[in-house]
Amino acid sequence: MKSIVVANWKMNPATFKEAKKLFEATRKAAESAKNVSVIVAPPAIFLRELSVGYKGKRLSFAAQNAHYEAGGAFTGEMSMTQAKDAKVSYVLVGHGERRAQGETNEDTRKKMFTALQLKISPILCVGEKERVADGDHFHIVREQIRTGLADIVVGKLKQVVIMYEPLWAVGSGNPVTPRNMHEMFIFIKKTLVEMYGEAGMAMRILYGGSVTDSNAAAMILEAGVQGFVVGGASLDPEKFKALVDSIETVA
Ligand code: PEP
Repeated sequence: MKSIVVANWKMNPATFKEAKKLFEATRKAAESAKNVSVIVAPPAIFLRELSVGYKGKRLSFAAQNAHYEAGGAFTGEMSMTQAKDAKVSYVLVGHGERRAQGETNEDTRKKMFTALQLKISPILCVGEKERVADGDHFHIVREQIRTGLADIVVGKLKQVVIMYEPLWAVGSGNPVTPRNMHEMFIFIKKTLVEMYGEAGMAMRILYGGSVTDSNAAAMILEAGVQGFVVGGASLDPEKFKALVDSIETVA
């Protein structure tokens, strides 16, 4: 199976001119890597123009967030319906930076359901804010998965992706070790199997948090993950290409 790399640009770059340049470099990196599926998650304001202008097949687009309601009085929000109309195939649900601003497990449950209704593949982001010695992160992750997927029936699971990304590892240069990720990978699988039986085993699990070309291959080989969400390294064309190339042969 191909590895997935989601380029999460967050609130970058500053101008559309720069975004077009970054997209061009990202496209080239994606097109030179046959075993990696690159998904670009630009800021909402750049999304449509980039996606409708892209005529290739290698890349797909994700929204960094979208609202579960189809429309209404939600100032500043973008709906999943609007995201779909802008040609997104994926949506990040419950990114740690959004949870830190108040997004709840209940919100993620509604977003997961709406995304699947619209045939958008949701990437459910789970992970603790801080790691404490008593292993509380496992409980946090289990609850995030159980509530986030509460309305999802087995038949829809193939479109769902889970991403473990503890907030302390995001942008910190301090990634989870492959060994600890392997432990979490097994825990997530166990949680999914408890919910869905065998079908849970086949679900894709990604990792996010300070991924670069120096740790990505080990994460695939030693932790078992099927890809990554990448923030910082996705904004630097050289680093992004090096990362994609580093997993091309292990994917
Ligand atoms: C992210 O925000 O999804 C992320 C993984 O960021 P970084 O790679 O910068 O840690």
